[in-house]
Amino acid sequence: MNRTFRFEDWTTLPDPKACAEYSVECTESGCGAEFNINDDQQAADSWMYRHTTMTGHRSFWQTFGHSVIVGPPPGSIVAARVAEHERSVERQDQPVRPSPKPARSTS
Ligand SMILES: [Zn+2]
Repeated sequence: MNRTFRFEDWTTLPDPKACAEYSVECTESGCGAEFNINDDQQAADSWMYRHTTMTGHRSFWQTFGHSVIVGPPPGSIVAARVAEHERSVERQDQPVRPSPKPARSTS
């Protein structure tokens, strides 16, 4: 089921449940050395400095990735509206019980 929310106050936030990933790859011809680590950019930088010191290689490809979620900004009034809207949708999705009616008799 697709839902469209028409609020302006959306933003992207880092997902607190996921680690950031840092990857560094030496791009000097014939080397191919690489380093990957979670949540530690300084360790990735240190690896490059050590690699340069040991090999003289000074060219790297660095990538950074992290998980993102879309939601209302912290403290936004929209957050309360979204929660209220989701509760009302949940109520509408509940099955409707037929009201007990007396059985008609044909005469
Ligand atoms: Zn290298």
